[in-house]
Amino acid sequence: METSRIAERIRQLAVSATLAMSQKSSELKAAGVDVVNLSVGEPDFDTPSHIKEAAKKAIDENYSHYSPVPGYMSLREAIAGKLRKENKTSFEAAQVVVSTGAKQALSNVILATVNPGDEVVIPVPAWVSYVEMVKLAEGVPVLVPAGMEQGFKVTPAQLEAAITDKTRMVMLCSPSNPSGAVYDREEIKGLVEVLKRHPRVIILSDEIYEHINYTSEGHVSFGEFPEIADRLVIVNGVSKAYAMTGWRIGYMAGPVEIAKAVTKLQGQTTSGTCSIAQKAAEAAYRGSQECVAEMLAAFRRRRDLIVGLAREIPGLKLDMPDGAFYIFPEVSAYLGKEARLTSSDGSVTVKEIATDSDLAMYLLEEAHVATVAGSAFCMPGYLRLSYAASDDQLREAMSRIKAALAKLA
Ligand code: PMP
Ligand code: GLU
Repeated sequence: METSRIAERIRQLAVSATLAMSQKSSELKAAGVDVVNLSVGEPDFDTPSHIKEAAKKAIDENYSHYSPVPGYMSLREAIAGKLRKENKTSFEAAQVVVSTGAKQALSNVILATVNPGDEVVIPVPAWVSYVEMVKLAEGVPVLVPAGMEQGFKVTPAQLEAAITDKTRMVMLCSPSNPSGAVYDREEIKGLVEVLKRHPRVIILSDEIYEHINYTSEGHVSFGEFPEIADRLVIVNGVSKAYAMTGWRIGYMAGPVEIAKAVTKLQGQTTSGTCSIAQKAAEAAYRGSQECVAEMLAAFRRRRDLIVGLAREIPGLKLDMPDGAFYIFPEVSAYLGKEARLTSSDGSVTVKEIATDSDLAMYLLEEAHVATVAGSAFCMPGYLRLSYAASDDQLREAMSRIKAALAKLA
């Protein structure tokens, strides 16, 4: 007899490992433990003041009512303008739907387009929520491994081989969470050549780390390729570029038919997202972009710092990431080792570090540094560390990790 009151779709859903690890680290902090949290990916900067001022003004001007389900037209126009200018797309405002973060935008698009049994191709490592969102839609995630040996980037041949008659969607993310890999123009062209041959396949391009790109070429958007414009959906938002994770504004831009379907879904689930946050996001898009460049410079300095420190730790393998704010070192040299843990009463227990999750837990408990295991991103044998933290925190974290790893026998 069925005993759980929880629906099967939720029982089968994995907990978001990034949020869970961050929560764990907050709990330890609240209990007085000095934890360095490199688990969750969010800028540690404050939201720039001109954006905060716009929100205050919106409150005073009584933007306190329901907003249109797909967002205020002025914001959708600002986003369409940004996409035209920065990403050379031809999306109109009517093709843009604003949601509660890029997370809801992704989930909306998947729920609106994927039928039960449809295949969704996802190169891995991939952000924790992609696979789970596809499963919620009863789609079938088709994982294509792209490890460190290939720069964490899927090749055109791999993409071609993964697409079948059942493929509904391909999900791509550049710059990538968790690897920091960035596809250059030639590489994107290679993928576009494959996608051109499969007109039924929707391309869902998550470009949320667009502005955190350290290459001289800069961001290359799938929106720059008109050959696939009729089946391209771009997801982006203000969380990463403008240090606005808590404001919860993201969007999708794509074919009108998909924008309408997403609006219908959002109208029955969450309605238009927070009116005040929308006004703040509009200020982010219409205002000076200097803040973005300033934060990028800080992230670049921190990337160089953390990569240098990680390279001093024996057994960690990593290349210099080109974007986002994560390093994703390969840690298999430490798997299969044993940790001798001494508790407060002096007793010693020996714990095997069999998996990357064991290693992440060991680092949290022993070194008080929160990271996320590669397996959460469908790539076991790695760890993800966010360097969206201060230089001092990064130095402290890496020195603790080095000491804790040295203790493993
Ligand atoms: N996509 C990727 C790859 C991410 O790392 C995140 C993390 N926040 C999101 C989407 C969602 O961002 P948000 O909902 O904060 O806009
Ligand atoms: N995207 C960030 C991360 O990967 C934020 C947490 C989340 O929403 O997963 O850590």
